[in-house]
Formats: sequence, structure tokens, C-alpha cells
Amino acid sequence: MSVDTYWNFCLAHPQYGYYITRDPLGEKGDFTTAPEISQLFGEMIGIWAAGYWQKIGSPGKLHLVECGPGRGTLMADLLRIAKIIPDFLKASRIHLVETSPSLRDKQRTALQDHHITWHNDISTLPDDAPLCIVGNEFLDALPIQQYLCQNGKWYERQIGMDAEGALCFGLGTTPFQTMDIRGDGVLETSPVRERFINDVVHRLKTQSGAALMIDYGHEVPGFGDTFQAVKNHQYCNVLNDCGECDLTSHVDFGRLKTIATDLGAHVVIETQGHFLKRMGIEHRAAQLTKKSDTIAGGLHRLTDDNEMGRLFKVMEIRI
Ligand code: SAH
Repeated sequence: MSVDTYWNFCLAHPQYGYYITRDPLGEKGDFTTAPEISQLFGEMIGIWAAGYWQKIGSPGKLHLVECGPGRGTLMADLLRIAKIIPDFLKASRIHLVETSPSLRDKQRTALQDHHITWHNDISTLPDDAPLCIVGNEFLDALPIQQYLCQNGKWYERQIGMDAEGALCFGLGTTPFQTMDIRGDGVLETSPVRERFINDVVHRLKTQSGAALMIDYGHEVPGFGDTFQAVKNHQYCNVLNDCGECDLTSHVDFGRLKTIATDLGAHVVIETQGHFLKRMGIEHRAAQLTKKSDTIAGGLHRLTDDNEMGRLFKVMEIRI
């Protein structure tokens, strides 16, 4: 089977899928994300969203959407800081795009003081007001396909079984005649991520709005195998323990930017460290450090070049 078919089975199988059956986040889970590290992260996303709302003339209604909200921590932190701009909070209709029933339960608890509408995908979002869409580590959960070049021809990298019945990598039998790409190693594509960005831009064009997607990845396209599995905060073999590990890959922000730009959107990509500092994370941390020492540690992890500050990118899409 193709890598994306395998990926979908492992993460989204209705009975055994990784995200369907558990809450994978936090120290006791398999991996920790920026909103789980510090409240500063969701607060800065809130500053961005409120700033966008003000820039477009403070409309009386705005659909505030989070894709892949995990435990609902980012949205809770965002809404708490939004209290300083009561009209923004009043205008915001909150929508969560989430496929996991167990994580929807966590989100319901984290956001119990707010009226929330859940969606399986963005197609059911209302179209009667501007959109403000955010997503942290959402794109990397969407599947990829891989290709390998052999003797000048590209083949799909697939997953099958060896003589002992264990999963193994192999190549599709028919080369792609039309792939005129020169390179060495593994080429990764993600039609699902591309379709998502395409759909977002079409939505923004019809009802106006902006999107902010944060993930680890690269702006310059490259070759290389970034398909990885994580369990208990450790990397593991992507073919072992199907449905028990998180599967991800680096996001090709350069490609997604090209797609959005070709459709007429304005796209800015910057490092997470740069974005958070631009939103004033250091001032907010200084304000909070008086109350808690963990704030300084969180600021460092989120913004330092050797931590999450450089590898993670923030992509803003506007019309
Ligand atoms: N944003 C959160 C969680 C990241 S994990 C954080 O930063 O902590 C990825 C999230 O995306 C989970 O909530 C997972 O259930 C959700 N998800 C994965 N695939 C999805 C899909 N196809 N549609 C909607 N949500 C999805």
C-alpha cells in the first residue's frame, strides 16, 4: 500500500487509529506541543487573531476556527487573553475542526465556558462572516506520499510484507513517466495538505479572512525522508506498533506557499521564534514571571533557535 494509505490506517482507523483511541499529548503521553509547554503560546496566537480582527475593522461577527485543537489548550489560552478586548470575544464564533472523539471530549472540558461548534473538516464552516483559522501541528498529522529515484526513474515508495510477514518498504512496479524532477533520495509530497491549503484559500476568497498554520518544516524544497514515528517521547520505527505511535513528517511550507500564492493569497512564512517575539511574547513573559518561574522556561523552549524557535515555522495566509 502507499505510505498515505498506511498513514491513514495508523492514525485514523475508526477502531484502532492512534488519534481516535487516545489523548497522545503531554508528559504522560507521546509528545508535547507548544500550547502544552506554555500558556504564552496560545496567548500570542490570540494577540494575532485579535489584531487581525481590528485590522479588518472590528466586524460584529467573526468565525474563529482551530484545526486539530488537541486538548483545547491553545483555544482556552487564546480566549482568556481575548478578554482584554471584549468586543473581539463577543464577535467570535468558535469552531473546532477535530476528528477524534476522545480529543473532542477533552476540548469540551477545557472550553466548557464557551459555545463551541465541532466540524469534521472545514467544508461545514459557515460562510456568513470573515474567517480566522489557526492550526498548530495540524498539517503534520495529514498524510504524505513518498517517491524514490532509481536509474533515472521515479517509483512510489510503498509498504508491504516480507517473507516472514513483517511490514517492509518496497517500490511500486511502474515508474512515473511524467515526473521530470532531478534529485537524489526520497521525494515527499502531500496531496492532502495541498488540498487543505487550496480549500482554505478558496474559503478566504469567498468570505475574506486569514489563516495561521504553525508546524515544523522547511521553506526551501528538498529531498529526504522525514517520515517519522514517535512514542513515549522517543523516535521509533514507522513500521512498528501500527496505531500505537504518532506518525508525522516535515511540512513543505515552500510548496504550500506556492499553492496559496498562485490562488492570489498573500503568504508570509517566518520562524516561530520571530513570530512570537513580534507578537510580544517577551513582554508578556516578563509580566508573568513575577508570578511563576516556569514562564521563563516556556519562553526559552518556544523561542530559542536551538529549541523550537527556528525549526517551527509560522505561515500566515491572507487575502
Ligand atoms: N494543536 C494541538 C494538537 C496537535 S496533534 C496542539 O498543538 O497541542 C494533531 C491534532 O489534529 C489532534 O487534535 C488530532 O486529533 C487532529 N487531527 C488529526 N488529523 C485530523 C484530520 N484529518 N482532521 C481533523 N483533525 C485532525
